[in-house]
Amino acid sequence: ILTVAQTKQWMEEINKRMKEHKEQLTELDQAIGDGDHGINMARGFSEVINKIADTEYDTVADVLKSAAMTLTAKVGGASGPLYGTAFLKMSMALQNKDVNQQNFQAAMEAALEGIKMRGKAEFGEKTMYDVWYQVTAFLKSEKVEDWQEMMEVCQATLEDTREMVATKGRASYLNERSIGHIDPGSMSSFYIFEALVAVLE
Ligand code: ADP
Ligand code: MG
Ligand code: MG
Repeated sequence: ILTVAQTKQWMEEINKRMKEHKEQLTELDQAIGDGDHGINMARGFSEVINKIADTEYDTVADVLKSAAMTLTAKVGGASGPLYGTAFLKMSMALQNKDVNQQNFQAAMEAALEGIKMRGKAEFGEKTMYDVWYQVTAFLKSEKVEDWQEMMEVCQATLEDTREMVATKGRASYLNERSIGHIDPGSMSSFYIFEALVAVLE
């Protein structure tokens, strides 16, 4: 379901969205963090594009690995290593494989585990993990490839983060005062999956 060319395109679609929504992501992070999430994402993914655009790749795993290394190296904030780990675990799960529905599902599970391991996050702690958790669960359901519904799940999950108390990351310093604001990393994760759907549908 995902070719090398489509994986590159996925990164381009992500980059486009992070640029477009840089201000929004920054504003969300200003409310409950340090206000750099838009900058982190826009910079990180433009570095990813710089890296992969002119490189020839044999496998989807190689593209993902390149993206992962770049995000981990170039993004200062917590989100860089977290997304870096997610894409790296995805790459490792897809090593030397043509991507099909089944191994993509397994790759998403690996990515989810990676975020959990790296961030020590659980579901419901108002982080990007919430969105990855729900998308992975959705892909395991029989509704897989109903992309529209997957995006509805993403949207609902990020809306749910608004009423949560953050217990991981910078927003956790605010405690109850983090209530009433959408988690910035959940919003950027929404764009990552929206970009994937734009490529696959
Ligand atoms: P920083 O907080 O270092 O400035 P960013 O602003 O780029 O980094 O990213 C913040 C986002 O990272 C949060 O909105 C949240 O979704 C995610 N995040 C932060 N810490 C964790 C964690 N421990 N586990 C999972 N996700 C986290
Ligand atoms: Mg921040
Ligand atoms: Mg920061």
